Formats: sequence, C-alpha cells, structure tokens
Amino acid sequence: MENRIPFDNSFARLPETFYTRLDPTPVKAPRMLAWNAPLAAELGVGVPDAQIYSGNAVPEGAEPLAQLYAGHQFGNYTAQLGDGRAILLGEVRDSAGTRRDIQLKGAGRTPYSRGGDGRAWLGPVLREYVVSEAMHALGIPTTRALAAVTTGEDIFRETALPGAVLTRVAASHLRVGHFQIYAHRGEIEALRRLTDYAIARHAPEAKGPLDLLRSVCARQADLVARWMSVGFIHGVMNTDNCTISGETIDYGPCAFMDDFHVGRVFSSIDQQGRYAFGNQPNIAVWNMAQFATALIQQMENRDAAVESATKIIHAMPAQIEAAWTKAFAAKLGITTPREGDAELAQDLLDLMQQDGADFTNTFRALAEGAAEAQITDRAAFQDWQTRHRARIAGEPDPQRVMRAANPVLIPRNHRIEQMIAAAVAGDMAPFERLTTALANPYTETDTDLAKPPTPSEIVPATFCG
Ligand code: AMP
Ligand code: MG
Ligand code: MG
Repeated sequence: MENRIPFDNSFARLPETFYTRLDPTPVKAPRMLAWNAPLAAELGVGVPDAQIYSGNAVPEGAEPLAQLYAGHQFGNYTAQLGDGRAILLGEVRDSAGTRRDIQLKGAGRTPYSRGGDGRAWLGPVLREYVVSEAMHALGIPTTRALAAVTTGEDIFRETALPGAVLTRVAASHLRVGHFQIYAHRGEIEALRRLTDYAIARHAPEAKGPLDLLRSVCARQADLVARWMSVGFIHGVMNTDNCTISGETIDYGPCAFMDDFHVGRVFSSIDQQGRYAFGNQPNIAVWNMAQFATALIQQMENRDAAVESATKIIHAMPAQIEAAWTKAFAAKLGITTPREGDAELAQDLLDLMQQDGADFTNTFRALAEGAAEAQITDRAAFQDWQTRHRARIAGEPDPQRVMRAANPVLIPRNHRIEQMIAAAVAGDMAPFERLTTALANPYTETDTDLAKPPTPSEIVPATFCG
C-alpha cells in the first residue's frame, strides 16, 4: 500500500489568528507500538510509519499547526491555552466523506506550551488509545486513536518515563474554548469567522449562531447521558475539553466506575468533586452556557439573542434527562420509555450504591437473569425485580435490548494500570489483549477482563499525565 495521506486542510486555510504554524519536534528513536488498521482504512492513510507518526517526517500535504484556544478550567477562566503539546497535521475525508483531523499529541513544545514540556509519556498515550477505542466500540461519540509510537526519549514526571506520541483523529478539534478566546478578547470578526467554520463543518443546516448552539447542546446532552449509561467519569470537563462535534475528548484522568457511587471522583486534581460522576449533567449545561455567552457576542440584537440563548440553555436539563431515561430504560430492556421508568432505573442504582455493587456487571447480569447474585440486600432486590418484571412483560424482546445496552466489558482501571506497567517493561501483550477484547464490548469473549478488581488491585485515583 502506498503511504500517501490525502490531506485537504480546511483549518489551515483560515487566517493565522487561529493558530501558529510549526513542525513537530523530532525525537531520537521512534518505534511503532500500535496501529489501528481498521481506522487507517476508513481514513485512507496507508501504512504505519514511525517517522510520520512520531513527527520526525512531515508527510506531503500536511500543514502542521498548533491551535489557539482559551477555557474555563475548574470554573476559572484562563485567557490563553491552546495546543501545548499537540500538532494538527491536517485533515482527510474518510470513506463516508466526513472531514477528520489527524493530530499528533506529545509532538513537542509550541508557543502555547506555557510551563509544559510538550511531551506525553507512554502511560497516558496507551490509556487514551485503549479507552477512546473502547468508547467508540461502546457506540459513544469520541475522538479515535490511529497510532502510538515510542520516542526513545525519557520524559520527566517526578521520575524518568518513556516518551510517546499518540495520533488522535477527530471530527474536528474545535472546543468551546476556541470561541471563548475571541469573545473575551472582543475580536468579533474572528469569532464570526470561526462560527461560520464550525457551522460549515458540524451543523451545515444551521442558519446562525443560535442554531449552532442548539445543535451543540443537543449533542452534549446526548453525550453526557451516554457517559452516565456506561459509568464513565470524564474527570476534567473544562470548556477547553468540550467539543463542538459532540465527541468525547481528552482522556486524562478519566475512569470507568467499578462499584457504583453517584458521587465518585477519580481525578487526583478534582479536590472539590466538581466533575464527580453525578455532577456531569450539570457541568455539561454549565459548559454550554459558556458557549452561549461566547457566541452571542457576535449578535446584532443582543437582548433578543440573550433571551433566545437562555431558552436553549434552560431546555438542556430536560434534554439530558430524556436522553438519560432512554439510555437507562434500554439497560432495563425497555425500548420506549414511559412515566415511571426513570424512577425504576434510579431505584436500582440506589440499591447498587447501598451495596457497592459493580455497575457494569449488575446491569449485564440483569440481561442474563442473574442480577440477584450482584445485590446482597435480597428482599429489596426482589421487590425491585417484581416491579421490573411487570414492566418488561409487554416488551417484545427485553433480553436482546438489555444485551445491546449493557456491555460485558469496559476498560477497567486496574486492567489499564496493569497494561501500562507491562508496556513500560516492554510487554505489549496486555495492550493487545485489551484492545482486542474491547473492540466487542457487548460480547462474552475474554470474561476474565469483566472481573472487578480485587481489593489490592483497586485504583483509587487517576492522574492527568
Ligand atoms: P488538559 O488539562 O489536558 O486539558 O490541558 C490543558 C492545557 O495544558 C492545554 O493547553 C494543553 O495543551 C496543555 N498541556 C498539557 N500537558 C502539556 C505538556 N506536557 N506540555 C505542554 N502543554 C501541555
Ligand atoms: Mg485538554
Ligand atoms: Mg489532557
């Protein structure tokens, strides 16, 4: 196969206010660690090449650049962020005709690196690879992982660690923070230009900023409900990690829950629990309010715009609730939710929380008619089960619906940590095993990977890396 990447770079055609052009910083001894052949075929990008996917060789047609954006981090506005360690090589059209970004993450310092080294270490690179691909296989919108390369260089995170570069693929890397920076600076022409670009790329039916807002709110509402339905905690839902495409982005301190608790937090930097599991819907709304605030700066009739945008934001909690109810009803075997179904789901979650039951395994056991073994409070569970059985009695094929909504496999934290430790020691077998099994998360394949951690395997906290 020929190794030519058919680039067509729309972002690089925008004015230079939006980015800085620069090449990746070369690394010492790049070596290919992982290559996502199905995704490569979808993108039409040819063969794995450690020179290209480490940033050592800039492929023909690429126009490398670092994007500029700002963002609210843990609720506080930072006036300038930007790609501090990521470089966009360019865009291709995939086999479905959709424009996709190809970006190297960990590709060296940029003008937006602030104090950072511009690099990534192997652990977070492989975590993002495994978790983002698992997310995709679960059917949840996400950025993808095309390649992982080791650099042959040490990087320092308290101790020396092997450096790595991830090739990330996204419907675009546009974030809420992209809009915030121009709105806050009062650069209204840039804001308009970016809005037009986002509309063309992500919401071509939109007639203006308010339509764009409506469409992104719908996507983010759906996204957060889907995260909840698989027990996912993003961990760092800052506005610079909130995409316009509605894809999950930034797998830093994220985690899938084992035992269910609505208040669960893993991220070591989330001291206040702002991004706790159960707070994610509130934050999704908060982030969209920031997006609205930025977008309306460009509108002529400001009072009317504020009023319309407020309505759109105020509609979002109900949108999330509807998406949540649909997702959790499916987990109970119900195709079309009705009054009382959200409560039925919530009552099971309450039982799981009281018991410290495993989120994924309890729901999957429900599909197999074996949930009783997951909940120790037998009497309470039997009451619940009586209600559940009565509710699904009229459903055409509840077991099929449950099996399609309740995965057997999620990327469990302890398996990720074990995989990283092995990879650092030069053993990629656990990585291969995880990526293979997680490609079919709804099928009983590698059931050993479905087991929750033993007490000594529990991972209490995650780090950004
Ligand atoms: P994050 O918390 O991952 O969303 O990153 C926030 C900001 O820090 C973004 O602008 C990143 O590009 C930047 N950043 C994160 N890690 C590094 C690094 N090692 N070197 C330079 N910039 C970084
Ligand atoms: Mg980020
Ligand atoms: Mg990050």
